[in-house]
Amino acid sequence: MDYLIRTSNICKEFHVGSSTLKILKGIDFNVDRGEFIAVMGPSGSGKSTFLYTLGCLERPTSGSYLFNDVDIFGASDKKLSQIRANNIGFIFQNFNLSRGLNVYENIETPFLYRSFDDSEIKDMIMRSIAQVGLMKRIKHKPSELSGGEMQRVAIARAICADPLLLLADEPTGNLDSHTGMEILNIFKKLHENGSTIILVTHDHHVASIADRIVCLSDGELFDSETNAG
Ligand code: ADP
Ligand code: MG
Repeated sequence: MDYLIRTSNICKEFHVGSSTLKILKGIDFNVDRGEFIAVMGPSGSGKSTFLYTLGCLERPTSGSYLFNDVDIFGASDKKLSQIRANNIGFIFQNFNLSRGLNVYENIETPFLYRSFDDSEIKDMIMRSIAQVGLMKRIKHKPSELSGGEMQRVAIARAICADPLLLLADEPTGNLDSHTGMEILNIFKKLHENGSTIILVTHDHHVASIADRIVCLSDGELFDSETNAG
């Protein structure tokens, strides 16, 4: 099988003072291209740590991780930042937009770390803004946007360079349920168009839009249930 993600026995420890926190305790996890997976688990169970490890923001303490057939555990920092910039889109609960930049400029920022022609970049940005339905807000700063609109900007920024993987950490956590549904519909559409998505949530209703749900508990990962259809 041609997996996008293959982890074997991944462990992640944090050292705080003289104590060692074992957060991920040997996780085997494979993700097929085009899959939509929800990661659930109680607060503090390591969901974000797991997501950031998959997103190459954190390095596993031990174990093997192949992303798109590249060995992440052994890769240099430079290689990891290249992989992140070109292949992985991140969406966070608090949107992570720059307050001083407008919608267009926020989406443009990651291109500092990618290699595209200027004309190409403009087309890609405009296309991603259209995709999330924000054409009328291009010049707006985050303070002039609603929460749902801010998350749309973050999604446009994440999908703009057509990454191999989209990672979302509680993307609807700061939104009312109606706005949250609108955001989930964008994820659904991206998935229908072939995106590979891993979404962290503690909300069963949110998780139910995924093809597959996995659950983190006490540092281990379990298959939760398979969503039919
Ligand atoms: P979740 O997203 O499921 O709420 P997290 O992955 O954020 O869980 O955190 C899991 C545990 O790891 C928590 O106990 C947290 O305090 C700890 N942790 C996370 N990041 C660090 C870090 N950089 N240093 C030390 N401990 C951390
Ligand atoms: Mg978290």
